[in-house]
Amino acid sequence: MKFVSIGSGSKGNSTVITNKNTTIMIDCGFSGKETVSRLKAKGISPEQIDAILVTHEHTDHCKGVATLSRQYALPIYMTHGTARGMKLLKYQYTKIVAGESFQIGDFKIDPICVPHDSNEACQFLVNDQDKRFGILTDLGHVTPHIESAYQQCDSILLEFNHDTELLAKGPYPYSLKKRVGGNLGHLNNNQAANLLQSMDLDRLKNLALSHISEKNNCFKIALETAQNITENTDTTIHTLEQQFGSEWIEVA
Ligand SMILES: [Zn+2]
Ligand SMILES: [Zn+2]
Repeated sequence: MKFVSIGSGSKGNSTVITNKNTTIMIDCGFSGKETVSRLKAKGISPEQIDAILVTHEHTDHCKGVATLSRQYALPIYMTHGTARGMKLLKYQYTKIVAGESFQIGDFKIDPICVPHDSNEACQFLVNDQDKRFGILTDLGHVTPHIESAYQQCDSILLEFNHDTELLAKGPYPYSLKKRVGGNLGHLNNNQAANLLQSMDLDRLKNLALSHISEKNNCFKIALETAQNITENTDTTIHTLEQQFGSEWIEVA
């Protein structure tokens, strides 16, 4: 199993996970046309995607979902709350429930409930036999349930959204600063680092820093914070970019 980000940040997010038989897309926060060209740049054709999973209804995660689904007849998996938020209740989709695992091709998928200011957000663990990839972005804090669910990942795509000082000093209006830094907002670098510290780092081969804010964070601080936790381990750190996303990353 391997994964690639085709873009990560407040202007759009999408991740593709694939093995020999199965390909899934998690979120599609770019227009249909832009998604197709970003996919092409990574060597993926939309036709090969088996399903789109949606974490929540914020535009940077769902902008192109309906278009891509219609154009290429791709099934959508999401919670009822997310479907309602996207105004897609009448569209044919597969309803998922946090805590109830489901199968798409080779992948067993565990949807994990996260605290975020949306209807019914969930993030995902993707299991391919004994390998596990975790995606975890758009959450205001790490609950005990999240901490235990993400313990044993071989690779993780983890939100390092903001630096608390840069957010406080930054250009956002007060209400938005409160939202981003609040319990239902986004993880700051230190919250992400604390989660990492609780994980089995002997097992963790890849850490992809994601949803990095262009205004309230800088790559250097996020990277150094992560490096402090992973020094003396074999974990490789990748930083995901808004424009480029990432290279393909082998889960183990
Ligand atoms: Zn987001
Ligand atoms: Zn969000």
